[in-house]
Amino acid sequence: MTSKIPECSICFEHYNDQSKCPRLLSCGHSFCSSCLERLLHGNTIDCPTCRNLGAVPTGVEGLLKNFALLDIVNDTPKENVGSNTGSHDCEAVVRSTLQIFAALTAKKTCAKLQLSSIIATR
Ligand SMILES: [Zn+2]
Ligand SMILES: [Zn+2]
Repeated sequence: MTSKIPECSICFEHYNDQSKCPRLLSCGHSFCSSCLERLLHGNTIDCPTCRNLGAVPTGVEGLLKNFALLDIVNDTPKENVGSNTGSHDCEAVVRSTLQIFAALTAKKTCAKLQLSSIIATR
């Protein structure tokens, strides 16, 4: 029996809402904050999955959180998968989904894969 909490594909640690917070690169891929800190070179991050060079003018903290993933993280410990409480969470998911689509429009190459994997894990 394995945990359903999605993990960072670099360090294989489960995401959480703190130091392992999933953040979205401009290419659509997500990694945890700690790994992104290590990937940060100056003001850019070289995505390890698709090699897309993303500008990060405000640092890792300035990257968008992947609320779709965070929602799964926050949902998983409560074994009640069926009950979806918390309206603010839904709002955040909708907002992050819109952001993912915005990223999709900008960079079609790899974001499509990422999006389908998010949908599949939900
Ligand atoms: Zn990581
Ligand atoms: Zn990427």
